[in-house]
Amino acid sequence: MRGKLLVVGFGPGSFEHITKRAQEAIQESDYVIGYKTYVDLIKDLLTDQEIISTGMSEEVSRAQAAVKYAEQGKKVAVISSGDAGVYGMAGLVYEVLVEKGWKESTGVEVEIIPGISAINSCSSLLGAPVMHDACTISLSDHLTPWTIIKKRIEAAGFGDFVIALYNPKSGKRTRQIVEAQQILLKYRSPDTPVGLVKSAYRDSERVVMTTLAHMLDFEIGMLTTVIIGNASTFFYDDKMITPRGYQKKYTLNTEVQRLRPHERLRPENEPWALHEGKHENGQTIRAATKKESTPLSLVMEALEKLDGSETIDGSRNTSPISQPVESIFEFAVSPGVVNKKFTPKQMVVLAEVVGEKGTMEYTPHHQILLKIPTEDPNAITKRLTDVGLLLSPIGDVFQIKACDFCDGEKKDSIFHAEEIQRRLGGLELPKELKLGFNGCGMACYGAVNEDIGIVFRKGKFDLFLGGKTVGRTAHPGQPVAEGVHPDQLVDMIESIVHEYKQKGHPNERFYKYFKRVQEVQGYKHKDITPVIELEPAPCGE
Ligand code: SAH
Repeated sequence: MRGKLLVVGFGPGSFEHITKRAQEAIQESDYVIGYKTYVDLIKDLLTDQEIISTGMSEEVSRAQAAVKYAEQGKKVAVISSGDAGVYGMAGLVYEVLVEKGWKESTGVEVEIIPGISAINSCSSLLGAPVMHDACTISLSDHLTPWTIIKKRIEAAGFGDFVIALYNPKSGKRTRQIVEAQQILLKYRSPDTPVGLVKSAYRDSERVVMTTLAHMLDFEIGMLTTVIIGNASTFFYDDKMITPRGYQKKYTLNTEVQRLRPHERLRPENEPWALHEGKHENGQTIRAATKKESTPLSLVMEALEKLDGSETIDGSRNTSPISQPVESIFEFAVSPGVVNKKFTPKQMVVLAEVVGEKGTMEYTPHHQILLKIPTEDPNAITKRLTDVGLLLSPIGDVFQIKACDFCDGEKKDSIFHAEEIQRRLGGLELPKELKLGFNGCGMACYGAVNEDIGIVFRKGKFDLFLGGKTVGRTAHPGQPVAEGVHPDQLVDMIESIVHEYKQKGHPNERFYKYFKRVQEVQGYKHKDITPVIELEPAPCGE
């Protein structure tokens, strides 16, 4: 009978994470060969298999023994933790076979059974730290010279890979992790998130979230995997998360923000997307690579450039992060709350600031929306405010849309519009909210159609709430109060907006909130939605 080698990765160590095929393979074998600790981990799966367990460093003799029994016609399971092809037994088994001139057609049968490797099991306990291009590096110099390992750490640091360090430290090997940290600090910020996972999915599991600067303050051992984030990895609520892309944006009222998923997950922001590919018979056809370089030639080129003391591109690195993360500064500008007239000077400065790479978009909201790639949003803010432009954040914030008060002639209520802007402009809300403010009963700037509408009339204010500003079921706001005294107006608006901020659901527009709660600051909701039933029509249809 032809023997068979089953090279089995049994995952991190818990039963739920062993694949079905791995369980079957162990059960259908005559022999199970593995490191003693691993045999103990899977002992509940064993029935009458013969066990050959050896010490940790006896991998080669384990592979030889496995091949010997298979050649005698036995079914032999060789077990590795995680995946057998990641610093496991799979390669060694093949090496022993190759030495003997084995051929698949005539020799013993070989089946490699995949398992969940530590990079995956440990990542899932940390959150989602891998997500993007990542690599594994084993710090064990047992089978690999330390000079090569160092070059790989250097290359991974330079390439901004998320890195999973396997075999980071043992009783005798303690220097490597210290050197690895020093190398990576040349390329990455000391604040780079780092996750330490010991014994994932085993009884003594331990998860620590730390940073590149502080990672050595915690216990790291042979059962730990160290996961080091890239330049955009962040911590959030005890989770380590690497976004699926690099671009960040600045907005006016927060510092740097990562792009929201819907903004980021566009083809142009997906570095790995095969835009040139097309699908034919279910197969992706890759576009031919333009440059005639093989992965190996690139690696050789990169390694040749290395010399421990310098960074990979030959420069002496002074700043810890060598790859700047491009940020987009996004905001809106207008000549003022009331003033609708741009000066030529303002237009010139706008054009200069936006430059070749930015965009300027005229919106329906009396504003120009700017998107400018920059690392220095403050310089841009200063230039624009110096020429008297009003800058507003965009997104889910409070915005005022005032009329021009008949070119400033009907000025009695301008003060109140500006006061509302001063108190509430840019306030973050569950969803964008626009307050229309019109300076006379003509209300020609359409205040009554906004989320909140204010119309000045005969020295007092009329208030409209809950306009549905867009869509085929658009409707004006409901008139809730007439003749509000000027002294009460701004406080009243502030209370309404703050109530919505606190109690509105995320993404709930103001008109929906009003309808749901039925009463806002004492104003009762009346359903004034048009009675005509319309089919929903999403954008673009
Ligand atoms: N074949 C294994 C790796 C073996 S090398 C795999 O694919 O996962 C041994 C190293 O793997 C350890 O030093 C540790 O860094 C990592 N490792 C393996 N199992 C682990 C676990 N359950 N939790 C954390 N790290 C683990």
